[in-house]
Amino acid sequence: MRDAFVRYTYGGRTSYGQLEGDTIRELKGHLFDQPTLTGATLKLADARLLAPCEPSKIIAVGRNYKSHLGEHPSLTAPGLFAKLPNSIIGPGDDIVLPPGAEDVHYEGEMVLVIGRRAKHVAPGHAADYVFGVTAGNDVSERTWQKSDLQWLRAKASDTFGPLGPAIATSLDYNDLLVETRLNGEVRQSQRTRDLIFDVDAIVSYITRFVTLLPGDLIFTGTPGTTQAMKPGDVVEVELEGVGVLRNPVAASRS
Ligand code: MG
Repeated sequence: MRDAFVRYTYGGRTSYGQLEGDTIRELKGHLFDQPTLTGATLKLADARLLAPCEPSKIIAVGRNYKSHLGEHPSLTAPGLFAKLPNSIIGPGDDIVLPPGAEDVHYEGEMVLVIGRRAKHVAPGHAADYVFGVTAGNDVSERTWQKSDLQWLRAKASDTFGPLGPAIATSLDYNDLLVETRLNGEVRQSQRTRDLIFDVDAIVSYITRFVTLLPGDLIFTGTPGTTQAMKPGDVVEVELEGVGVLRNPVAASRS
């Protein structure tokens, strides 16, 4: 049986749990440090799911599917940028369009969750460091992506990193279907076997420069083309074996 883990609140408490069908088995301790079952269980429907981990850093890979390159040439090494922990939100949370944002796109992606301190990971050894995978939405403001010195506003604004609903630990992440739906219509659909730089290449390359810690995230890139979202839209990213990450889009509250 493959394992899936969630983070949730229930009865005023935040916990990690092991997901089995519609049942959550509560865990004690930290997800990346040999947690134990408490024996308590609850129904999935009774829990409020949160983003499944709390990263210290989030690295993302751009232009990592041929179908997403458009007019851009292929890169000779993974194209890296950063998102920030403030961008992470959980299933069901609003993607809030910031003041002045006019062209905010979804980017459905497979996200790697790191389970062990990782530095100078040799090619071929990524599996020793990847705890599991989840679905992510690398929300991106295209105008700011073109105009700004760096992609901070474009990629790391609050709520620009929906994540979840679960972390699955026993999947072949080299061949999973990533699908994005906007208001129920399929907009992106491609398998991770089409990644230009695969998981081994990405983890090896990133850890030449950046030490990754348990819970850190790597957004692996988005396939195909993307579109702007507007308040009232609902965007879903489904990663095969992980589930559906669903988020409504809302206007800025200020
Ligand atoms: Mg992306």
